Amino acid sequence: MKGIFIVLDGLDGAGLSTQARLLEKWLRKKGKKVLLTKEPTFGMIGGLIKSVLKREWKTDQKALQLLFSADRAHHLQKEIIPALERGYVVICDRYILSTYCFGVIDRVDLNWLRSINSKFLKPEITIILDVPPQVSLERVEKSRFSLELFEEIKKLKKVRRNYHKLKNEFPNTFVVDGTKSIHEVHAEIKNIIEKFISKK
Ligand code: ADP
Ligand code: MG
Repeated sequence: MKGIFIVLDGLDGAGLSTQARLLEKWLRKKGKKVLLTKEPTFGMIGGLIKSVLKREWKTDQKALQLLFSADRAHHLQKEIIPALERGYVVICDRYILSTYCFGVIDRVDLNWLRSINSKFLKPEITIILDVPPQVSLERVEKSRFSLELFEEIKKLKKVRRNYHKLKNEFPNTFVVDGTKSIHEVHAEIKNIIEKFISKK
């Protein structure tokens, strides 16, 4: 395929949306065609997933993971692959790595997650924005009960550990320190992408 498939991943509040937008703008300035997209998607299956995440309805963890896979299959077929075929740089905010890192803390088997994602296109380059759970939570929201916060931090610590453990799951994965300034993080990402494009 003519395009480039880039994934940004990490904890909430790591700066994924901010950096995805800056990367999009920079690539456009360089004359590239860019598709900025995210998972879960804004489509119908993505909506179901979001309603589970917002606790509007409950479902089995495995059912949730199958929804993520269904959303991904649809997303790939309808948006990502057609764009790559037309030479677009696709920036996807969260992808399979999120499934693994968040899924396993809900006691879903990693190998099962790998198998239900095995047919999907692999990203060519993955950038993990790494921030401690405290920073993640501070950036996402500031007012919560301390107990809830403590539970949340414990959970996010596990997710962050998973990002480090699974960072070699896909080729060309880079970990960027997301606690640096927005400008510094953007500069590092540009550097990584520039090197990658020049080698391609
Ligand atoms: P995500 O999409 O990863 O959840 P956002 O990009 O939406 O995160 O950023 C969450 C909040 O943190 C926003 O208010 C954003 O302006 C701020 N933020 C993002 N990156 C940084 C950074 N490097 N330093 C300080 N604040 C940041
Ligand atoms: Mg975001």
